[in-house]
Amino acid sequence: MAKIICVLYDDPIDGMPKIYARDDLPKVETYADGQKLPTPNGIDFQPGELLGSVSGELGLRKYLEGHGHELIVTSSKDGEDSVLDRELHDAEIVISQPFWPAYMTAERISKAPKLKMIVTAGIGSDHTDLAAASNHNITVAEVTYCNSISVAEHVVMMILGLVRNYIPSYQWVIKDGWNIADCVARSYDVEGMHVGTVAAGRIGLAVLRRLKPFDMHLHYFDRHRLPVSVEQELNLHWHPNVEDMVKVCDVVTINCPLHHETENLFDAALLGKMKRGAYIVNTARGKIVDRDAVVAALESGQLAGYAGDVWYPQPAPVDHPWRKMPHHGMTPHISGTSLSAQARYAAGTREILECYFEGRPIRDEYLIVDKGGLAGVGARSYSK
Ligand code: NAD
Repeated sequence: MAKIICVLYDDPIDGMPKIYARDDLPKVETYADGQKLPTPNGIDFQPGELLGSVSGELGLRKYLEGHGHELIVTSSKDGEDSVLDRELHDAEIVISQPFWPAYMTAERISKAPKLKMIVTAGIGSDHTDLAAASNHNITVAEVTYCNSISVAEHVVMMILGLVRNYIPSYQWVIKDGWNIADCVARSYDVEGMHVGTVAAGRIGLAVLRRLKPFDMHLHYFDRHRLPVSVEQELNLHWHPNVEDMVKVCDVVTINCPLHHETENLFDAALLGKMKRGAYIVNTARGKIVDRDAVVAALESGQLAGYAGDVWYPQPAPVDHPWRKMPHHGMTPHISGTSLSAQARYAAGTREILECYFEGRPIRDEYLIVDKGGLAGVGARSYSK
């Protein structure tokens, strides 16, 4: 019987919700490209419940314990003597979410001789050392597409929020003000602006599709070019490299995975090539941008705004400079963990576990590392 460690974020400070804001979730049949939603044999939760925090347990306890497995759920993942470190030595599976990532470093992996699988309940497995996982023949799987649309919606919200100066205007209301000039002195329309996405995978393309009705000019840079029919349908401008794209864009949104080609991509030099007064929305990964260069660009006015939900490390320390930098619209890492997304990735995690324990193949689209190398969607989106 297997031992499974599930690392989740803490419950709400006032405890688990007793009643939810809405009674149900809309039914989504398939994703935009035809991929099927998760297909577990069963689920032991009500879609719409808080599943991603410790007491929610991703709805897995009944299933796992019913099959005789041991499930440890904890938010204790960092620092000396974390529950994760204490329990890892005989664990077979580690599950965590990018919002509260269990950093599965080479060192941790070397201390877990029985480890066979690391599951990302969400999308983006950069918190696992993929080379170390390959070397130890550990499967890495994630729930591809489960929250891509959730993130795309968040990106559109943040672009509009920054460009229209929403958050500072809201704060004038809270401060009992009616300071219209203060609100609008930094407020613009997105209509006619040029927006570009770094990567047009599931999220990047969904962002472009959602921005099209705002009459923005759409650009993208991706190492895989989209079909000509999609480029024509959306009137997309493809750029051969990121520099070429950022210098013509008013808004740049970052939607690529974090790997060695994309780490620190937005450094001071690249930020300096952007149009003065451009905006960046990054919901991909914090390490894709240079933390201090972003602060400097906001302070100098090179950037008019920066928003996103991804930081490094996570949780972000209280003295992280992005908390207090000017003209930002940051949230904690939440875009991919709406209650809607949680229902999908909890079901997808269950599907992956059922496949693993029943000896059935895990869907190719869920695989990042398998049989000692990048596999499935991982082979397309990550680099060796
Ligand atoms: P995806 O696999 O559909 O798309 C990734 C795209 O990135 C692919 O089109 C690939 O060709 C492109 N790409 C990879 N390396 C590149 C490079 N060096 N230069 C240009 N393009 C490159 O994945 P997705 O569902 O769109 O998710 C993308 C990323 O967003 C994830 O890897 C994750 O880091 C992040 N994400 C964040 C959240 C959140 O809650 N904030 C949720 C889901 C995903």
